[in-house]
Amino acid sequence: MKNKYPLIIIGVGPAGLTSSIYASRYKIDHLVIGEALGGLAFEAHKICNFPTEEEISGAKIIEKMQAHAESLGATLLIDKATDVIRENQAFKVITEKGNIFLANAILLATGTKHRRLNLPNENEFLGKGISYCATCDAMFYKDKIVAVNGGADSANTASLYLAEIAKKVYQIYRKSKLRGDSLWAERVVNNKKTEVIYNTEIVGLEGKEKLEKIILNAPYQEAKKIAVDGLFVEIGTIPQKMLIERLSLETNQGGYIKVSPDQKTSQDGVWAAGDITAASNNFRQIITACSEGAIAAESIFKFFKEKNK
Ligand SMILES: Cc1cc2nc3c(=O)[nH]c(=O)nc-3n(C[C@H](O)[C@H](O)[C@H](O)COP(=O)(O)OP(=O)(O)OC[C@H]3O[C@@H](n4cnc5c(N)ncnc54)[C@H](O)[C@@H]3O)c2cc1C
Repeated sequence: MKNKYPLIIIGVGPAGLTSSIYASRYKIDHLVIGEALGGLAFEAHKICNFPTEEEISGAKIIEKMQAHAESLGATLLIDKATDVIRENQAFKVITEKGNIFLANAILLATGTKHRRLNLPNENEFLGKGISYCATCDAMFYKDKIVAVNGGADSANTASLYLAEIAKKVYQIYRKSKLRGDSLWAERVVNNKKTEVIYNTEIVGLEGKEKLEKIILNAPYQEAKKIAVDGLFVEIGTIPQKMLIERLSLETNQGGYIKVSPDQKTSQDGVWAAGDITAASNNFRQIITACSEGAIAAESIFKFFKEKNK
């Protein structure tokens, strides 16, 4: 591995891996640095909306993207970028493992992280009943009673997956109708093991050594408790802020990076792609992340071409 590259891509999810594939095809020498291979896509139990794949797991689709990127010569480094500092016309990328790299262009594809309930004792029950990843932790709840919080695709698919393993799945949602992909929502409603509790929020967590009960609150009703062995929190995601702040990138109100149609950010030499941006009509999916990654790589190719004229 060298310590200087024309391009450093930060993130090894669908956006980062696709931008690497395109960058290699454009012969842009680059390094891909990512903390966790696959990012959020890795957590998807079943993906049924990616063209050419009728049904595939998140892990498998990432394995295929990684293999494709590496077949074209990509160098992938599993490490966390802790800082990116602009130095004259270049950028210094510092990582958790103590690496320092220089780059002429940066592509941020750092995605999002799970939104938390923000309940006082939530951290106490992490790994002791509370999980943010059904695909990772469902097997710990064989024949047990679990709850899923949320009402969009990730919550619906988590409920369906858990229903294959657990005895009973409560899905707690603050609105009156599940949203997202209608096929998933219908399957949740029709599944014998799932029970959707609408118009309700989780307002408390109880347990001694581990989570034992969740406290529910619905308008015009007294708070009630239900006994559960596990709670899967699937209430959306928030952008990974650290590098956005370090690079002083312009964001929308939600903290997502504002980009132009060619994925350029407000700072020269910095591009962004995937869930981390406010592009693609805020439709955060694998295919839109890939699309933004491809557009960014093409834009970076033009940038270098112009520079080297
Ligand atoms: C349970 C679940 C099910 C889903 N199901 C589907 C589905 O069926 N179909 C679909 O299209 N989409 C689905 N999605 C959404 C999809 O996973 C995301 O839209 C997609 O993963 C976004 O890709 P990305 O590359 O932008 O971000 P991510 O996949 O989140 O990747 C971000 C990458 O950046 C890295 N990173 C972050 N910060 C740093 C740092 N400081 N230094 C280095 N690396 C860093 C991460 O480790 C990761 O490698 C699902 C999501 C979830 C959670």
